[in-house]
Amino acid sequence: MSTEKNTPSSPSLNFIEEIIEADLAAGKYQNIVTRFPPEPNGYLHIGHAKSICLNFGLAQKYKGYTNLRYDDTNPVTEETEYVDSILADVQWLGFQPANIYYASDYFEQLYDWALKLVKAGKAYVDFSSPEQIAEMKGTPTEAGKDSPYRNTSVEENLALLERMRAGEFKDGQCTLRAKIDMAAPNMHMRDPIMYRIKHAHHHRTGDKWCIYPMYDWAHGQCDSIENITHSICTLEFIPHRELYDWYIDSLDIYPSHQYEFARLNLSYTVMSKRKLLQLVNEQFVSGWDDPRMPTISGMRRRGYTPESLRDFAQRIGIAKRENMIELSLLEFCIREDLNKIALRRFAVLDPLKVVITNYPEGQTEWLESENNPENPETGTRKLPFGRELFIEQEDFMENPPPKYFRLHPGGMVRLKSAYIIRCDNVEKDADGNITAVHCTYFPESRSGQDTSGLKVQGVIHWLAAEHAKTATVRLYDRLFTVEDPAAEEDFKQCLNPESLRVIENALIEPALAEVSAGDRFQFTRLGYFCVDPDSTAEKPVFNRTVTLKDSWAKVSKKA
Ligand code: ATP
Ligand code: MG
Repeated sequence: MSTEKNTPSSPSLNFIEEIIEADLAAGKYQNIVTRFPPEPNGYLHIGHAKSICLNFGLAQKYKGYTNLRYDDTNPVTEETEYVDSILADVQWLGFQPANIYYASDYFEQLYDWALKLVKAGKAYVDFSSPEQIAEMKGTPTEAGKDSPYRNTSVEENLALLERMRAGEFKDGQCTLRAKIDMAAPNMHMRDPIMYRIKHAHHHRTGDKWCIYPMYDWAHGQCDSIENITHSICTLEFIPHRELYDWYIDSLDIYPSHQYEFARLNLSYTVMSKRKLLQLVNEQFVSGWDDPRMPTISGMRRRGYTPESLRDFAQRIGIAKRENMIELSLLEFCIREDLNKIALRRFAVLDPLKVVITNYPEGQTEWLESENNPENPETGTRKLPFGRELFIEQEDFMENPPPKYFRLHPGGMVRLKSAYIIRCDNVEKDADGNITAVHCTYFPESRSGQDTSGLKVQGVIHWLAAEHAKTATVRLYDRLFTVEDPAAEEDFKQCLNPESLRVIENALIEPALAEVSAGDRFQFTRLGYFCVDPDSTAEKPVFNRTVTLKDSWAKVSKKA
C-alpha cells in the first residue's frame, strides 16, 4: 500500500462537527457534552465502536467530556456480565468515560416528572389493552381515535399513577400515556406510552419498581439531567426527535438536542445484538468473544488492535444516509497497523520434510532474520538451520505447471533468511505419497552475503526439524457466505461452514516458544496471528487475525 494512505483523512468537517462548531461560535455552549448510551443486553460490536469513537472523539476534539450511560430501562434482558464487558470494551478502545451513569439512577426523577405532566393535564392512565391501543392508533394517512380514558380528571390520574407504582395492577393492565395529539402526522406523537407495568427484578433497583419507562420517556430526560449538549443516535430515531423535544419542552428542563447519523453496516456481518445472541445461545460460535464475532471482545481475541478500530471509524466517517461498508476495509486497517508492529516469525502449517543431503548431520547453524523490516529498531532473532527442515506442502510440486517458482524436482528456491536449495529427488512411501524431498544447498548463497551468482524467483519459509515446536493454529474465514445476511429470511442458513479451520500440529520456530495471550506476530507468508487465551505453556494457540494481502509478490521482492 502506498504511504499516502497513512496520512489522516481530509481535515474537512463532518456534519456533526459543523453543527458543533456553529454552536460554539454562536456561544450556545462553552464546551460540549456527549454520551454513549448502550443497553446492557449484549456485548458491544463494531457498530458500537463507531458510535464510541464518534462520541468520545468529538468530546476530545472540542474539549468537552463523554458519559457512559447504561440504558437499563428494560429489566428483563439486562445482565451484570454485559455491564462489565461494556466498560472494559470502551476502555480497551482507548476511552475513559467522564462519568458512569445508569438510566435507573434517574427512575425517581422520571417519576416526579411524570407526576408533573399528569398535573399539567399532559398525561393519563389508560386501561385499554395493547390491542385496543394499537387499534386506536390509526395509520399514517388516517387519524387515530381518542382513548376512552383520555379525559380522566387530573386527580384521578394522579391517584391511578400512584397505584400503578405501588404495584396494585397486573402486567399490561394499564399504561401511562402522554396526552399529545391522536391526529398528529407523526405516529410517535399519538399519545405515546410513557410507563408500562412489569413486575420484574431489575439488576440494580431490585424490586423497588414495577413500572418501567419506555425508551422515549427515558432517553431525552436522562440526556437533560446530564446536560448532554449533543445527543447523537442512529437514523431510525429521526421520527422520535419530535417527541424528544416535546418532553423536554413540556417539562421545561435543560434542552439537550438529538442528532442522527447512519449506523454502520458491514458486509458479511450481522450486527443486531438479538441475532448475535442467537449465534451464542445456539452455539454456532463459542461465545460472545469468539474470534469470528463482530463484537469488540471477539475482534480483540482475533488480534485486532484498538488503533486499527479507531482508524477504521475515522476512515468510514459519518454519513446521513444508510450504506454498507466492505469488510475488506476493516482488514486493510488491521494490516496497516500490524505491518508496523508485529514481529516476523516462521511457522509451517502443513509440513513437508526436506533433507539437505550435502549438509553435515547433527550440525545446527544459527542464522539471523529481521524481526520487522518496517521497524529496524526491533533488531533480529536467531533462526536455527540444519540438515532436516520442514517447508509447506503447498510450496512443493512434483509436476508443476510452467512458471512455478517454488520447489520442484530440478528447480531452485531461496529459503528465506538462509540459503538457496535445489531439489534433486523425492522419497515416497509404498502408496506413492511423497514423504521427503532431497535437496542440495549452496553454501555461498547465504542471505545477506550471497556470492553464488545464482538467480532464483521463489522465496519460501521453512523450519529446522530438530528445533521446531508444535502449536495449534486457528484459521478464520468470514462467518457468513452472503454480503447481507440480515436481509436473508434466516440469517443462520447462510453461515459459512468453513469459517474455522483448526490445525492441531502446526510447527513454529523456537523464538515463539514463550508467548503470552494477546501477543501478535506476522507468520511470514501466512498472515498475522494473535496468541489466544486458550494457550498453555506446552502448546500455544494462535488465531489468524487476517491474511497478508499480496503475500507472494511482497516476499519475493524482498528475498
Ligand atoms: P442493536 O441493534 O445491536 O441491539 P442498539 O442500537 O439497540 O443496537 P444500543 O445498546 O442501544 O444498541 O446502542 C448504544 C449506542 O450505539 C446507540 O447510541 C446506538 O445508536 C449506537 N449503535 C448501535 N449500533 C450501531 C451501529 N451499527 N452503528 C453505529 N452506532 C450504533
Ligand atoms: Mg437500543
